Amino acid sequence: MGWLSCGKHAGGVRRGERRRSVVTGTEPGVAVATARRLADEVLAPNAALVDAERRWPAEGMSALLSELGGLVVPEECGGMGLGLSAVARVGEVTGRACASTSICLGMHLVASAVISARATDHQRRHLLEPIAAGEHLTTLALSEPGTGGEFWLARTAMENKGDRLLLTGEKSFVTNGGHADSYVVSTVAGGADTLPGRFSCVLLDADAPGMTWGAPWTGMGMRGNDSRSLRLDGVSLPRTRLLGEEGDQIWYVFNVVAPYFLIAMAGTYLGVAAAALEEVRRHLLRRRHALSGDALAAQPMVQHRLGSMWARVERTRRLIHQAAEEADAGGPEGLPALLSAKAEVAETVESVTNEALTLAGGIGYAGDSPLHRHLRDGRAAHVMAPLTDTLRMWTGRALLEQPLLGE
Ligand SMILES: Cc1cc2nc3c(=O)[nH]c(=O)nc-3n(C[C@H](O)[C@H](O)[C@H](O)COP(=O)(O)OP(=O)(O)OC[C@H]3O[C@@H](n4cnc5c(N)ncnc54)[C@H](O)[C@@H]3O)c2cc1C
Repeated sequence: MGWLSCGKHAGGVRRGERRRSVVTGTEPGVAVATARRLADEVLAPNAALVDAERRWPAEGMSALLSELGGLVVPEECGGMGLGLSAVARVGEVTGRACASTSICLGMHLVASAVISARATDHQRRHLLEPIAAGEHLTTLALSEPGTGGEFWLARTAMENKGDRLLLTGEKSFVTNGGHADSYVVSTVAGGADTLPGRFSCVLLDADAPGMTWGAPWTGMGMRGNDSRSLRLDGVSLPRTRLLGEEGDQIWYVFNVVAPYFLIAMAGTYLGVAAAALEEVRRHLLRRRHALSGDALAAQPMVQHRLGSMWARVERTRRLIHQAAEEADAGGPEGLPALLSAKAEVAETVESVTNEALTLAGGIGYAGDSPLHRHLRDGRAAHVMAPLTDTLRMWTGRALLEQPLLGE
């Protein structure tokens, strides 16, 4: 379908093309150290309860927003001005402690990157400055029930009404649904005839009349996410809430949404895999068979399996960091690494959490081990768009110099 062919390399992340380097005033290490402190003090102690009670992680999000809410917001708006490398590293730290909270923060970071990318003066003052001050939570409302994982094919209609825009449609899986102060919503102007992919992003205030939230989130994992559906019945918003230019926002998908989303999710799921690995390592060090006195840690097969899991996590970590660094610098190999990072982490977290449960044996399976949560949380990695199969195909297309979308 040619209408989604976006030039030789779809989207703006072209191999060989250098993007502007991200200016970093704050050292990523400072942000990571802050994330580590908050993960230890707030996220980890609440993780089991967030999961058991399926409650949105208010304590964790409030702590993270106040210190890291402006992670990717430009420094001139009061933010930390950091890029994808920081998002990956912070995501791993938060994902280790509480995956639900980490995804909630991840969606805020992706949405704030989307707002930052082409912000007007008005948007800088009224949105980015409050985000940087930790006073504003934003999130992504891209997916729709009618288009599933192909989030770039928005069908939510945007009608022009002078200096107002009118939105009608339905969104699905809106993480932070009902808790955020604003929602980055993808829409199409001109109704059903508009070519899919030529969508516009707008920023919707949480209290706009005409928004109806669906039933509470009851996911198998990521239970604290509140990834709910949202109906928009002629929701009116000022034109100043249009992000960038009308209709050209496939640019957003490939330049901002995809890189930030892929890396934020990759960081989080890497954290889940690393947490499962550490959990089972500690179990193996403790576990002895009472009768023989034999330690599980002394079994060569167990050692071999643990060693393989470690290597898998470590090589995934290196790919994610390389992808983030390349994309921050606009390096030539950035695109395949970026696309592969989430595909790899999805397979790694699935395999490592599964293997960890096996190595923890009946004790891990029967008890209230955190491995249960890691396995359920990690399983969402394949389900969240872009899908693993799609990412593998896009990687091949990028290597073969073909457009990512289209025939
Ligand atoms: C925990 C969680 C949080 C989320 N948060 C957000 C959010 O904050 N904002 C947001 O916009 N969205 C969010 N999503 C939505 C997510 O990104 C996907 O859009 C959604 O999970 C797709 O689900 P679906 O059932 O509609 O998939 P479908 O499109 O129905 O796909 C179902 C399955 O069919 C197969 N499949 C479908 N299409 C293809 C294809 N083209 N090629 C090969 N196989 C295919 C795949 O196996 C896929 O898993 C979230 C989802 C989850 C699970």
